[in-house]
Amino acid sequence: MPSPATLSVDLSALVRNYRTLERVSGRPVHPVVKANSYGLGAEACAGRLLAEGARTFFVARAAEGLALRPVLGAEPDIYVLDGLHGATPDAFRAADLRPVINQPAQLQAWLGSGGGACGLQIDTGMNRLGFRVEDAPEPFAGLALVMSHLACGDDHAEPMNRRQRDAFAAVSARYPNALKSFANSGGSFLGPDYAFDAVRPGICLYGGGPEGRPDDRIAPVATLLAQIVQVRDVPAGETIGYSRGYTAEAPLRIATCATGYADGVLRSYGARHGKPAGQVFVAGELRPILGRVSMDVCAVDVTGLDVTVGDSIELFGPNRLIDDAAADAGTISYELITSITPRVPRRYVG
Ligand SMILES: *Cc1c(COP(=O)(O)O)cnc(C)c1O
Repeated sequence: MPSPATLSVDLSALVRNYRTLERVSGRPVHPVVKANSYGLGAEACAGRLLAEGARTFFVARAAEGLALRPVLGAEPDIYVLDGLHGATPDAFRAADLRPVINQPAQLQAWLGSGGGACGLQIDTGMNRLGFRVEDAPEPFAGLALVMSHLACGDDHAEPMNRRQRDAFAAVSARYPNALKSFANSGGSFLGPDYAFDAVRPGICLYGGGPEGRPDDRIAPVATLLAQIVQVRDVPAGETIGYSRGYTAEAPLRIATCATGYADGVLRSYGARHGKPAGQVFVAGELRPILGRVSMDVCAVDVTGLDVTVGDSIELFGPNRLIDDAAADAGTISYELITSITPRVPRRYVG
């Protein structure tokens, strides 16, 4: 039996985005595969990118790196963005994970326990992780990569991008033997002087636009489909779903679809507080969700459409791009795809 809701992941589209990022940045792409490749499945996505030539990967947590090492084999470099957390220094070394050192105590702990290959994060203005520029340490043994992160990479007009870039150029010059990594997805499109030695994208690999809206250069990768499990007619004046979330002003036909917030279909897709309802793609058209999204089901207006039980709706995918779907739900593509729960089977195509 097919699952009522499925997340289909197009690995050839992932590869196209990988090549696009190489082309626009003019640099090697070091994929960010944290959070299970933004929900799409790190084993499949990182494994495919490895086959396409990627040799350096970034995860957020030590546990993600430990899980990825057997998938990638011994050769690729795996950096842990959290730094020296989540595992002992010996456990990092045993799995050949490279912590991205982000504060003096970590540097001491790493070197004091024997050191080894690692990264260094310099905070050039985001105030999140990393050494402040004025506290940047002297070069040390094992330092293989120096990096910083843009606060506004998704806003190409933001003047802070240039300030961060210039600060990173100045501070990173102190580490001539380390690889220099600066640009995330948005930054990869900012031009050659933002690219440094390698770019470090996440969301654009997975089909989100570099500026948080659809972009022709990025191919959709993730498609969330849900089956219609009941079709019913609703007379004018009746209400739909919890808390009478929607009132039919005219006779309607609705499709009850097998997906809800227990699948990561956010409750905020529904109409509320004057926000219009989210749209889904069904039978060749975009149609609104009616009333509240429930845990396991939601209702879609299919009035006048030829649909039947067993047909599918597309919450996002090639016909409803994730940036648009995210805007419908009042969020961003990152949150939309990382929220899809393990209940939803991932199906890999391409
Ligand atoms: C998540 C992350 C990235 C990737 O960001 P995208 O906007 O998804 O491209 C790159 N670098 C760091 C430090 C990150 O935390």
